[in-house]
Amino acid sequence: MQIYAPDYYKKFTCIADKCPITCCQEWKIAVDNDTYNRWCHIQPPKDMESHHAALSEYTYDRDGQHIITLTGHKKCPFLLESKLCRLVLAHGDSILSETCSMFPRENHDFSNHTEASLMPGCPAVLDLWQTEPLIQFPNVVSQLPADDIDTLLFELRDQIIHLTQDINQSPELILMECFYILSEFPEQEQLTKALLDDYFSVETVTELSTAIHQMDFSLEDMLYECNELLQDLAVNYQKEGLYTHFLTPLLSLASQISAGTSDYDLIDCWKNFHDELKKYEPLLHAFLANEIYSDLLLPEGNLDSMIIHMQWIGMEYAAIRYGLFLSWLNSGQTSLAYETVRETIAILTRMTGYEDDDIYEYLENSFESLYWEWGYFAMILANIR
Ligand code: SF4
Repeated sequence: MQIYAPDYYKKFTCIADKCPITCCQEWKIAVDNDTYNRWCHIQPPKDMESHHAALSEYTYDRDGQHIITLTGHKKCPFLLESKLCRLVLAHGDSILSETCSMFPRENHDFSNHTEASLMPGCPAVLDLWQTEPLIQFPNVVSQLPADDIDTLLFELRDQIIHLTQDINQSPELILMECFYILSEFPEQEQLTKALLDDYFSVETVTELSTAIHQMDFSLEDMLYECNELLQDLAVNYQKEGLYTHFLTPLLSLASQISAGTSDYDLIDCWKNFHDELKKYEPLLHAFLANEIYSDLLLPEGNLDSMIIHMQWIGMEYAAIRYGLFLSWLNSGQTSLAYETVRETIAILTRMTGYEDDDIYEYLENSFESLYWEWGYFAMILANIR
């Protein structure tokens, strides 16, 4: 089957011991059955802190899945101080489970082709986009059967990617436009190529952008809601003691804001912060374009699931932006450093990298309705330019 990937894909190399946020800690590292069966017969390296008879004994069972048991410091037990992997050093890459050998690569197998991409939870991937933010995505549509409803979904995704890469519009405005257009389609009798061309024409998008610019958005409501969203997304990670170095200062400030005891004039601060954030707009466009490419349309996906995934991407972006705001406040409102942006995107996308079923469950449990009103989506992304 033909495999398609964006242009950055082949440029990726794991920076291993130089990685500032290694993927070998604070994660649920799954071990597939084949690897687990092999591990049952392989002795662990001699220098392990806690010694078991076989590698498989360093895993536990969670809902029928084998997971590596992390150390008290939430690290993979095979991770050395030097940030290299004991297993790879002793046996080579072939010893690794599928999760370890794949990350940060992600494949989606559609009926006619496979799409590969890299995940933003890896700092080395963000470095690639920071250096070259205009990603070239593969032209999948030209290879798919014409006049097919599934092909139209890929065309719809392409139109959204194209809009997301328009650096003359802010990422927030683009997200609002895309969610508006997407939410309109289920009300149409049929999705057609003509309808897509009309909705994404320069005239329609300009009209939409003008209309959004004329709306009044409340910064206060956005700040309040994003403060709640971030705390809600973090609650389980906090309980499990994960990402504490990153989350503790953010959540401490977030709870002061919720209690009304922070000394900041948040609205004034936000305006300064937003100017700082603009430095990273090319990276944010690249990040969003990649999220749309890899997560908007999944195998078996349809228009409804695309709307749900767009909500998730919008929420993820709002949480990242707000997380950056809190980090910037905590750092004394100085220049927003690239390392902070990279860490925030990497950790928050790891935290929101849910399986599809979990996304639905989270949205159903956390919001009045699974499908959001456009007004709510726009509210959490307020402050456009
Ligand atoms: S997060 Fe990326 S760069 Fe860091 S160790 Fe994992 S794969 Fe390598």
